[in-house]
Amino acid sequence: MENTQIISKYLKTGEMYKESLRDNRTVYYKGELIPDVTTHPVTSGGINIMAKIFDAQHQPDLKDTLTYINPQLGERVSKAWMIPRTKEELKSRRELTDFVAKETFGVFGRPFDLAPLVPVGMAAHLSKFRAKRPEYAENVLHYIDYAQKNNLMGPEVLVDPQNDRSKAAAGGARLFENELGSQIKGGNSTPALLRVVKETEEGIYISGAKAVGSVAAQGNEMILSNLMRPGLLPEESLWLSVPINAPGIHIIARETVSTDPSKSYDHPIKSRGEESDSFLVFDNVFVEKWRIFNYGVPELNELYGEVVLGVHWHVLSRLATKAELYAGAAQLIVDALGTGKIPGVRSIVSEVIQYAQTLRAYVLASEELAQLTQDEVMWPDVNMLTAGRLYGITNYPQIIHHLQELCGQGLVMRFSEEDYANPFINSKLEELLFGHEMTSKQKNLLMNFIWDITTDSHAGRVALFENVNALPAPLLRERLYHEYDRTPFMNHIRQSIGLPL
Ligand SMILES: Cc1cc2nc3c(=O)[nH]c(=O)nc-3n(C[C@H](O)[C@H](O)[C@H](O)COP(=O)(O)OP(=O)(O)OC[C@H]3O[C@@H](n4cnc5c(N)ncnc54)[C@H](O)[C@@H]3O)c2cc1C
Repeated sequence: MENTQIISKYLKTGEMYKESLRDNRTVYYKGELIPDVTTHPVTSGGINIMAKIFDAQHQPDLKDTLTYINPQLGERVSKAWMIPRTKEELKSRRELTDFVAKETFGVFGRPFDLAPLVPVGMAAHLSKFRAKRPEYAENVLHYIDYAQKNNLMGPEVLVDPQNDRSKAAAGGARLFENELGSQIKGGNSTPALLRVVKETEEGIYISGAKAVGSVAAQGNEMILSNLMRPGLLPEESLWLSVPINAPGIHIIARETVSTDPSKSYDHPIKSRGEESDSFLVFDNVFVEKWRIFNYGVPELNELYGEVVLGVHWHVLSRLATKAELYAGAAQLIVDALGTGKIPGVRSIVSEVIQYAQTLRAYVLASEELAQLTQDEVMWPDVNMLTAGRLYGITNYPQIIHHLQELCGQGLVMRFSEEDYANPFINSKLEELLFGHEMTSKQKNLLMNFIWDITTDSHAGRVALFENVNALPAPLLRERLYHEYDRTPFMNHIRQSIGLPL
C-alpha cells in the first residue's frame, strides 16, 4: 500500500486495520494469552486476508465497488454502512459482498460487511425503536455514523453457550419457542445468559457469555444481543455494541484449522489463514450509554428477525458467489482430467451450475421483491431469503460431494512441494500422473485447492458454519412456515372446488 493514494480519511488501509487490533485485547489460545493477534499464527492469516480488502478500498478501479460517497459527509466510506433507499442502492451494496466473497473464496462468513447490516437493519425499523425508547433510535444512527467514519469491522454475536438445553432460559436457538410449545419461563436463567449486573449514570455493566464469536479476535467491535424468548427479563433484553478490548471481555479461541503460510502450494486456501471462532466470556464489562440499542425492552429484541434480514441477504449472496466459484472449480477438475466428454461427468458439473444459478436467482429475486420499510429503507424479501438460504444449506453437502466425486483418486493422491523438489519423485510424478494439457505439478495444485475447499479440516469448519451460522435448517423451515402467505392460493383452491372460504 506504500504507493497507493488514500482516497478518504474514513477508509482504513490494511496496515491501519492491523494497527487498530493492537489494543491489549484478551485473547487466549491453548491456555496462553496471545500478545498480538496481528502476528500470532492462529489469528494473523485471517487478519492478512481482511487487510487486503481494506487496502482494495483505495484502489481506483475498485472504489465504486467497495465504497460510496456519503452525501452527508461528502467523502467516501465503506458501502458496508450504506443505508439502501432504492433497489439500485441495494444492488450496489451487494457488489461489496460479492467482491469480498470472491476474494475470500466464500470461506469468511463474518467479513467486515456483515455485522454493519445489524445497525442498518435497526435503521430500517427505527420508528419502532423510537416508539419504545427515542434515545435508542438516536444511538443506532449515531453508531452507524461513528462506525462508518472508523471503518469498523467485527462479529455479530447472538447465540448463547451450549449448556444443558433442558434448563429454563439456558439459551440457544429459540426463535420459535412459542410455536414449539416450550414451557420455558424467565427468572430462572443459567449464568451463561448475558445480563445487566449494574447500572450507572454513564452506562451499564454486563456479565455472562456468548457461544461462537466468529472473527471476534480479529475485529474491532462486536454487536451483541440475546435471542428473544418467552420470559426474557428486562435485564436480559439487550442489544448493544462493545469494543473487543473492553476490560472484562475474555476471548477463548478454538483450535485452529489453518496452516503455515509458507505451505501455499500444499494448501492454497488453508495456508492463507482463517476466520477464528471464539467463546466469549463477559465479566462486568462496562458499556457506555451511547452504545446501547436496547436495554430493558423485551419487545425490541423481538424485532431481531426483521432487523437481520440484511444479514441473511449477505449470507445468501456470499453462498451464491461461492457456488459460482464451485461451478468454476468443477470445470477446472474436468478439464484437468480430460473427463469432459463423459455424459455422467458433465451431468455432475451441470448440477453444480444449477445450484449456483438457483442461489443467484434467489438473491436477485429477494432484491427485485424488496420493499421500503416504514422507515424508508429498501429491504430484501424475507421469504425469498429464507427459502434461498434453506436451499443453499441443505444442498451444500451434495455439492461438496459432487466436487469430491469429480476428482476421483486425485483428491487423495496429492503430493507436497517437497516431493516435487526431489528429482526422482518429480520425474516419476510428471511421467505417470500428468493431467490433460497440464503438468503433474499443476494438476496436483488444483487437487490441493479442491482438497482445501471440500475435505480438509478447514473445509469441515466452513461446512459446519454454513449449516448453522444463520440458524439451522429446522428453524429456517419453521420461519418459512410462519411467514410465507399461502392464503391466496388456498382460497383459489377452495373457490375452485367449492369449499367454504
Ligand atoms: C463455525 C460456526 C461459527 C458460528 N459463528 C457464530 C457467530 O459469529 N455468531 C453467532 O451468534 N453464532 C455463531 N454460531 C452459532 C450458530 O448460530 C449456532 O450454532 C446455531 O444457531 C445453532 O444453535 P446452537 O449451536 O446453540 O444449537 P443448540 O441449541 O445447542 O441445539 C443443537 C441442535 O438441536 C437442534 N435444535 C435446537 N433448538 C431447536 C429448535 N427450537 N427447533 C428445531 N431444532 C432445534 C438444531 O439442529 C441444533 O443445531 C456459529 C456456529 C458455528 C458452528
